[in-house]
Amino acid sequence: MAVDATTLAAASEQVLSWLVEHFDVDFSFLRFTDPVQRQSLLIAEWPRRAAESPDDPLHVAHLDDRDSALAQLSHTTEPIIIRPIPEFSGYQELIQQATGIESVSVAAVPLVSRGESTGALGFIKAGDREWSTRELNVLKAISALFAQLQARVVAEERLRYIAMHDDLTGLANRRSLLEYMEERLRPGCPGPVATFFLDLDRLKALNDFLGHTAGDNFIRTLATRLRDNLDPGDMIARLGGDEFVIVPAKPMDPTAADLEATRIQQLIARRVTVGGETVSRGASVGVAVGIPGETTVADVLRRADHALLSAKSSGGNGVAVFTDAMRAQFELQDDVELNLRGAVSDGSLLLHYQPEVDLRTGRVVALEALVRWQHPTRGLLPPGAFVGVAEATNLAGELGRWVIRTAAEQFAMWRRRGLASNVVIRINVSPVQLVSLDFVETIEGILRRFGIDGSSVCLEITEHVVVQDLARTQVTLRGLKRMGVQIAIDDFGTGYSSLSHLKALPVDAVKIDRGFVQRLGASADDLAIVKSIVGLAGSFGLGVVGEGVETTVAARTLVALGCYRAQGFLIARPMPAEEVEPHLAAGRIALDLDLPGATRAVTP
Ligand code: C2E
Ligand code: CA
Ligand code: CA
Repeated sequence: MAVDATTLAAASEQVLSWLVEHFDVDFSFLRFTDPVQRQSLLIAEWPRRAAESPDDPLHVAHLDDRDSALAQLSHTTEPIIIRPIPEFSGYQELIQQATGIESVSVAAVPLVSRGESTGALGFIKAGDREWSTRELNVLKAISALFAQLQARVVAEERLRYIAMHDDLTGLANRRSLLEYMEERLRPGCPGPVATFFLDLDRLKALNDFLGHTAGDNFIRTLATRLRDNLDPGDMIARLGGDEFVIVPAKPMDPTAADLEATRIQQLIARRVTVGGETVSRGASVGVAVGIPGETTVADVLRRADHALLSAKSSGGNGVAVFTDAMRAQFELQDDVELNLRGAVSDGSLLLHYQPEVDLRTGRVVALEALVRWQHPTRGLLPPGAFVGVAEATNLAGELGRWVIRTAAEQFAMWRRRGLASNVVIRINVSPVQLVSLDFVETIEGILRRFGIDGSSVCLEITEHVVVQDLARTQVTLRGLKRMGVQIAIDDFGTGYSSLSHLKALPVDAVKIDRGFVQRLGASADDLAIVKSIVGLAGSFGLGVVGEGVETTVAARTLVALGCYRAQGFLIARPMPAEEVEPHLAAGRIALDLDLPGATRAVTP
């Protein structure tokens, strides 16, 4: 029979009822010994007595209670026969108290496992009764079967415990957390169900300085502190490392949850003594609230995790509750993850082109291709909404190839129509693309296919990638240079590299980050930065482009500093291919900058 801990009592009861009939007795019972709690527990009995009260004397007996007849039963490995004689009056009284039967005969056969008593199987008959050796042998055989069953169930329980608990702290583990939350979020269950995602700030440093044993002790101490200060019914789980999840037993709305999370956060942040040192670690807590029947376990956990990220990114050691704004961002991200791959192939991506001009003449010198996504429900999405997701989900390569191919095709078409002959096409490249092994070949293939010479193409990379993997970047850039392709460093001034650092790379130009250019005329600091970038670029022989020109002041300042190439809303916004064509046909964009001594840009 497939008996486990949950069906053990019912199955045993069934067997007892057969035995009661077979041996013609009035009552029978099965008891197990719990060696840890030092107790003898009633597992099953037949017939069932009416409504067991908690102080039923047969229910639990303490093994160390020498006066307890039940305890004595648990110490022997040989059958005990009790007859209605004065010697057994204590036991007789107990039975009378619990069952109402006066003066009984009892045969109690111990369950024996590895030479130790692990429980007892007992038979009670009102009045006096003899027990034959044959009967006792049968009872011994049956109790041996029970002993085996008991051993198996105990082992299974132990495995189940291990499967559901965290080794280090004895708290629940991920699996039992998920089972518990599944129950709590069932339709009709009381809600809202608050969930706290906890993470210790900089635990790694503790492990590094005090050693892993100290780190483990620290975590154990925190686990005990949580257990001691939370409601016994609250779910506390450790997911590994320094991640804990708490689900309070009490329903809580977001406001109550915020308060409780703050209390827990402060509890965790209190000092702990480990390895002779008093240490404390701040903790960040993300809070999300689920509605039974509406929110799934995965949703609540992801929201809490998201809120945690937000708590950490605003400095750590604080609490953040999942908000609608987070939800919107989160949904967008999910949606992007789900649909981006399709978008790359189904024609919903498109390119806009933003002209770059020579500020002195208004001549269009380059076009930057900027990707957009015509999303079925969300409208036209800017690259900021999906390029990052593409990079995080292995789609950057595919997206990047689409951009390069599409821009090259468009550019080749313009050239065939006599447009854009002195214009360079600028294409943004993800760091991920740049380190992929076949990048150079991909570019080569595309340029050959559309008959574009390398020098008409400028790839824009960020400083970031350059700093991360200099050696690899060098190899790729040299390959590109062999085809004559130009390289520009985008968003220059925001990263970590210095111009001298860039000297190691075959770079042609830098684009001054729009953050500095925008405030030209308003910020003396930014003026100083732009001035030094332009000066240094000049001395390294690099071209320089000002991005984000929004005002005539900024444009005039750039010219005064000697940075003539520029891009920005003042000149032209990024626009669809057909809208760029008139500008390409004209070759210039009219600007009214009123530059001293310069030719005014005119539209022919
Ligand atoms: P970026 O390369 O710095 O591109 C310039 C961004 O500045 C564009 O934003 C453009 O619309 C915006 N911009 C241009 N002039 C002005 C101005 O005067 N004022 C202000 N405030 N903004 C201006 P967009 O199109 O949203 O692109 C954002 C970023 O997304 C780009 O920054 C680039 O890093 C990335 N990106 C765009 N297209 C691609 C692509 O095809 N591949 C990759 N990997 N990244 C791309
Ligand atoms: Ca760019
Ligand atoms: Ca830029």
